Amino acid sequence: MKKMVTDTMLMPAYVSRFSCIGGECEDTCCGGWGIPVDQDSFLYYQSCLDPVLQPLIAKHVKRNSESNSHSNYGHLELTKDHCRCCGFLTDKKLCLIQERLGAKALSDTCANYPRTISRFGDMHQMTLTLSCPEAARLALLYSDAFDLVGQVQTVSQTSVSRIKSVNGLPLSAMDDVRTLVVQILRSQEISLSNRLKLIGIFCERLTELLNQKRMDSLPQLIQDQENDLESGAAMASLTDHAELLDVQAQIPALFFLGCREGLPSPHLRRVLDEAAKGLGIGEGLPPDGPALVRAYEQGLPRLNSALKAVPWLLEHYLLNEMLREYFPWASGNPIQRYSTFILRFAITRLLLVGRAAAQETLLTPAELAETIQVSCRHFLHDDHLTKKVEQSLRESDWNGLERLHSLL
Ligand code: SF4
Repeated sequence: MKKMVTDTMLMPAYVSRFSCIGGECEDTCCGGWGIPVDQDSFLYYQSCLDPVLQPLIAKHVKRNSESNSHSNYGHLELTKDHCRCCGFLTDKKLCLIQERLGAKALSDTCANYPRTISRFGDMHQMTLTLSCPEAARLALLYSDAFDLVGQVQTVSQTSVSRIKSVNGLPLSAMDDVRTLVVQILRSQEISLSNRLKLIGIFCERLTELLNQKRMDSLPQLIQDQENDLESGAAMASLTDHAELLDVQAQIPALFFLGCREGLPSPHLRRVLDEAAKGLGIGEGLPPDGPALVRAYEQGLPRLNSALKAVPWLLEHYLLNEMLREYFPWASGNPIQRYSTFILRFAITRLLLVGRAAAQETLLTPAELAETIQVSCRHFLHDDHLTKKVEQSLRESDWNGLERLHSLL
């Protein structure tokens, strides 16, 4: 019997509006990914006597022999055909476990997706991953999507990740940092690229302070940043650089290469193929540098024109990533988190520019949201790719602020 927790959870308004559209969904969350099974669900499935489910459980529910963790006790083995789907997915794209045993029988991962639930001190927070198309539409297409609301939710206790103190900092101080970073990102009077640069400068100072174990200076650092933001002095710390479109195109394109093989979903393939076509990137081939930059130069103004219909779209996407990951407090130090964050943004923008360049008409708001969903689904929430990105940043000089800012 799972232990459940019921609480009024803090969430952006779009999260409170979400419900899964099931068989109507153009993608499926059950394809191509490893699906962990928590211990309670694993043991429940093993004791299941349902005659339809029993053979499928024997075939698809596997123990992770090297793991003792509750949440990663087992996994659902995907089908071996081209779709690499969950073995319990019906022809109507519905879940057979849910159909025969009810929603209560779903594992934590399946019951919660696309939700991420965290506990910060006494407060629960719920966000959604934008790798779900319905979540992406709700988060990206509505201007009020990120008004914060409280809503009562019941979730299993084991699906809640508890945010722990970093370097002995009180949770309240960590929350002050997070609030400041969100405040910078929402300062719409400043251009988005400058907002991201200001966050980078702050993350660098914060990392320095943590490395030197000067935690008692944190309130002053936050206060100074707030004052600078209010007075406009923060902008003076930014050097005026022309946009480096060649860097914006070529660096993220390195991660785009080779990532389109064996795609499980026609939906993903269609969007990625269109972006690749717009950028002139052939499958498995290294991009022709000058042609890629030319395509990027043509696509970027078209993307900017398309964004006029939903001017908040990129800010919402970044805000969601920040809230979901407790930026900058997830693993690694703040400047490492920032490096990964910026590179992911650059990859997503590259896809948007590619699609904008490929189409004769301007991308619609729905197509913009769809492209971000595909980017999150395929690139951003793939642990393997994230590790690859982080390793590449570590091995190259691409984690210095100046270089990262050239991506903006
Ligand atoms: S991706 Fe989202 S909308 Fe689609 S089936 Fe999964 S949870 Fe439902």
